[in-house]
Amino acid sequence: MPRFVDTSPPGVCIFCRIARGELPAARVFEDDLTMAFMDIGQVNPGHVLVATKRHAATLFDITPEEGAAVMRTVQRVAAAIGDTFDPPGLTLLQANGKEGDQTVFHFHMHVLPRHADDGVGLSWPRKESGMEALHAYALKLAGALRAE
Ligand SMILES: [Zn+2]
Repeated sequence: MPRFVDTSPPGVCIFCRIARGELPAARVFEDDLTMAFMDIGQVNPGHVLVATKRHAATLFDITPEEGAAVMRTVQRVAAAIGDTFDPPGLTLLQANGKEGDQTVFHFHMHVLPRHADDGVGLSWPRKESGMEALHAYALKLAGALRAE
C-alpha cells in the first residue's frame, strides 16, 4: 500500500479537521489537550493515535503541558489496549519531520499493539562510535541544555 502523506497546510490538516469534527474518526478518548482515535491504517487491531487538539507540527512545537498530557493519554490508552486486545507487546512511535518518517504534520504518537512476526520493522543501523565520541556528544548536549 502506498504511504499516505498529508500535504494540507497547518490548521486544515487532517488531524485539525478530526479535532473540529469535520472528518469522521473512530474516537477513543479526549481531554482538554489531547484526542485519541483509531489509526485508519491499522497495523495491528487496536492501533491508536494520540494527538494534540491544537495544531502543532512536531515535538518542537508542543508545550511541555501538551507533551505531558499526550503521555498521560498514551498511558491510559495503552492500558485499555492491554485490557481489550491483550497483545504480548506494545510499541510507541512518534515521528518528527519528513526525514524522521512523519507523514501527518500534526503532533501525534502511535500506540501500537505488537505480536510475534507481525511484519513491523524498524531499520536500526547501529554504529559503535567509541567512548571518546560519546563523551564529546554528551558535552555538546549538556552545554546546550545549560544554555536553555
Ligand atoms: Zn493540524
